[in-house]
Amino acid sequence: MKKILLSAFLVLMSAAPVRAVETEAPVLFLNGQVRQGEMLFGYVTPGSEITLNGVPVTTRSDGWFVIGIGRNDTGDLTLKATKDGREISRTYSISPRKWRVQHVDGLPQNTVTPTPEEEIRIASDIALAKEARQKEVDMPLPLCFSMPAQGRISSVYGSQRILNGVPKTPHNALDIANKEGTLISAPADGIVLLVHEDMFLSGKTVLIGHGQNVVTSYIHLSKIAVKEGQKIKKGHEIGRIGMTGRATGPHLHWVVSWKDKRVDPLVFLKNSEKFCPVMVKKKTSSASSLPQKKRGKK
Ligand SMILES: [Zn+2]
Repeated sequence: MKKILLSAFLVLMSAAPVRAVETEAPVLFLNGQVRQGEMLFGYVTPGSEITLNGVPVTTRSDGWFVIGIGRNDTGDLTLKATKDGREISRTYSISPRKWRVQHVDGLPQNTVTPTPEEEIRIASDIALAKEARQKEVDMPLPLCFSMPAQGRISSVYGSQRILNGVPKTPHNALDIANKEGTLISAPADGIVLLVHEDMFLSGKTVLIGHGQNVVTSYIHLSKIAVKEGQKIKKGHEIGRIGMTGRATGPHLHWVVSWKDKRVDPLVFLKNSEKFCPVMVKKKTSSASSLPQKKRGKK
């Protein structure tokens, strides 16, 4: 009960939970709700080392970091920050979410129940994407992301999908439907980790790394406009919406991941938007990105 109250308090007070005093334990907070599918932005006193359930988490030099929570994750998350021998630890319980059930019929049967040869191709595509997501991306994570394409949201994150009557893995992405050829642009600065012209399920595919284990994927494209290893700025053309691979109509299947966890792109964008003004403020004042009112007294 105490822990729940503490978590609730931290969520409510996430903007200003702790005073920063040099000689005390590092400041550490998460901004947002600790629930399935979230990618939360957090802050720790710069120079601290942090772990999530014992696994190191990289931070920006100014102290901002993100952590992702998978669709089916349950239990507790313990964040620990250490600096100059002082430690602070916070434990949060992951709240569950309810997911939609979505029926998709009329797909070519071989893409729903692939042949053994197709299974091999699918497995090789998955391995390529997994390897690309694990590449080191040496850049500070941009905090201000935006939608990569305009269009109608035709499928949200998390839905349980039943394809031609067969229950499949949940939809761990956001589908943005629009005419074939609609522009797809980078939601933030990044480095192109993978370009593939013909994946069995994903068709023309692009993966972009943004730093700190955040990767965005662009699937079913009709045209790819970037090359592997290319550094791109926010707004740069990635390619065009299409329906290559397994798709019933032209749309962008947009995946946002942190490490091996797919998170909810819409929630991620919402959390990211909250941070944009802070960063804009930082640029104009060149002060610490932690807003003035959040700093502790000396
Ligand atoms: Zn999709």
